[in-house]
This record gives sequence, C-alpha cells and structure tokens, in this order.
Amino acid sequence: MSKSTITSSIDLAALGKHIGDLRVRWSDNSVPLGYHPVPIISIKSGPGPVMLMFGGTHGDEFEGPSALMRMVNDLQPKDITGQVIIVPGLNTPAVRASSRVSPLDGKNLNRAFPGDPTGGVTDQIAHYVETELLPLSDAAIDLHSGGKASFFTPCTLATQTKNIELFAKNIKLAEAFGLPLIWILGAHNDKRSLNSAAERAGVPMIATELGGGGGVDPSITNTTEAGLYRLLRYLKILMRNQTSFEPNKVHKVEIRSQEHSVFSEGNGIFDRKVSAGVPIKAGQIAGYLHYSTDPKRHSETIVFPHNGFVLAHTNRGYVSRGDMLMLVVQDADNDVIS
Ligand SMILES: [Zn+2]
Repeated sequence: MSKSTITSSIDLAALGKHIGDLRVRWSDNSVPLGYHPVPIISIKSGPGPVMLMFGGTHGDEFEGPSALMRMVNDLQPKDITGQVIIVPGLNTPAVRASSRVSPLDGKNLNRAFPGDPTGGVTDQIAHYVETELLPLSDAAIDLHSGGKASFFTPCTLATQTKNIELFAKNIKLAEAFGLPLIWILGAHNDKRSLNSAAERAGVPMIATELGGGGGVDPSITNTTEAGLYRLLRYLKILMRNQTSFEPNKVHKVEIRSQEHSVFSEGNGIFDRKVSAGVPIKAGQIAGYLHYSTDPKRHSETIVFPHNGFVLAHTNRGYVSRGDMLMLVVQDADNDVIS
C-alpha cells in the first residue's frame, strides 16, 4: 500500500504532551499552497498501552469532541503510563462547516476507509488513520452522535468480528466505557467505516452514539468524559485515582433487519409520537406524516412494523421519502457471544 502523503507536525514517539497538526495537502481556493490542518494531541509517559481517541469523524456531532477537549485540557503525562493520542476533529473541514460530510470533497469519512493517499482530503485522512495511527495503537474509540439529522439513546458500539478474541475485547471495552446500552455491529456494519478499519488492523475498538441534534447536551457530555477516563483506567494507562474496575450491567442490542426500522414514504412534517430509548410493539403509532404543503391530502398514520427498541429517532421536522424516522433494534443479549 502506498505511503501516506499526510505529515504530522509533532513526533508521536516523543515523551510529554505535544499539540500539533496532521497536515493534509490539498490545493483549493481556500488553501492553494498550504495545508488543511487536522489537530492531533499526544500525551505520552513511559512504556504502556497506546489509546487512540477520535471525534469529529462526522462534523456535526459535538458531544464527543467536547469531552475530548476537556481531556486535552486536563490530562498530563504524569497522570499516565503509556500514551493517549487524541484527534478531536478527525474530519476538521467538516467540523468547521458543522457538516456530516466534508465540504471539500463531499465525502463521508466513515464511508471512506481504507482510504487513498492520492485521493481527496477525506480519502487521505482515512488512509492515514488506517496505515499510520491504527498500527500504533492497542485500543481505539471513535465518538459519534446523531448529528443534526437524528438523536440516539447514548450507547457504545462494538463490532462483532469473525475473530472471537477481538470481539470479546471489543465488548470489554464497551462495558468499560460504562454506558448501559451496547449496540453490536454485525452484518449491517459498513466495511468502509473506522470500526472496520480497526477490525482489519486487529485493534480492539468501540464507537459511540451520544445523543445528537447538532449541539452539545451537558449531561451526555459529562457521561462521555467519565467514560473516557474509565477506559484509560481499564487499560491501565491512567494511574490517577486507580481503583478496582467494576463494569456496569449492560443491555446489548443489534439491528436484526432493516425492515424493522421506520422510513418515510412521503415528503412532509413528521409528527413524532415516540422518542429514542423505549421499547415498542408492532402496530404501535410512531407518528403522523402531515402534508402541510398539500393539506387536501389527509395525514398518514405511521406504525412500527415489528416489536423492538427505538435506538434513534429522526431529529428532522420536514422529512423526505427514504429518510430514517425510527431506528429499531432487537435484544442481542442471548445469542451474540455464545
Ligand atoms: Zn457519526
């Protein structure tokens, strides 16, 4: 595989706390001859495990980056043994635009792996993560939320890998983060995601979905910050406040079929009756679709097609045909690890 064209302004092997940029070369009107910066922070002290922490893979999800920046402010080399590498805005051009996808090339970073060193900005970032950062690491986390479009019940995501040992490590990481809900990524996981890149690299990794709506919820961000420190304690990177580690009881869910979810069949206002985080029954009303621009058409009643649990709801008022309205998952507690 070709070498990355991205360079780091800091030496990731150096001891101490270093704040710099990954420099992405991409000549456009905004930056004709310079570089597009993707900030990176390395906190390293002695030998020990290396943890990678990413936020801003999607640029309209701000709870994770907020928690990461709190850690950048607070965590010092003397607190740890090992290394924490933090990239709070992996798709920085998208973060600056509060956009899910990059405004430079229109690409979704979490559908760009394994990337391309000769591609656009998003492809170059994906390639750097897959070939330069993941091989350095012993564990990784990618902090997502629902963004502007949707709202998720806060949960961690663990990939169900063919490698049973790696899957078990993913689950342990998810449990260590401390949220009571784990979403198992099975057959419906996209091979172009960062989770899949970590699977290819054999690196234990979890992602999160932390609320959403395009802003920052204070209690979810506090929970996220606590989860990041719990992970560092679990991995024995964090020396401060070292206590015995007791994972919480968790509930595991998975997407059993896309047909269990609810998608809009028309264009109109979605008058939502249910919020993420609750169990639902087949036939229960999910909401109404109002044809407000064509009011002679009677509103539609939208029902859930299957029993399940609402993991996420759309955050949109006006929806279009094909939009996800309700993401419905099933209990996975009994059959995923056996
Ligand atoms: Zn996301």
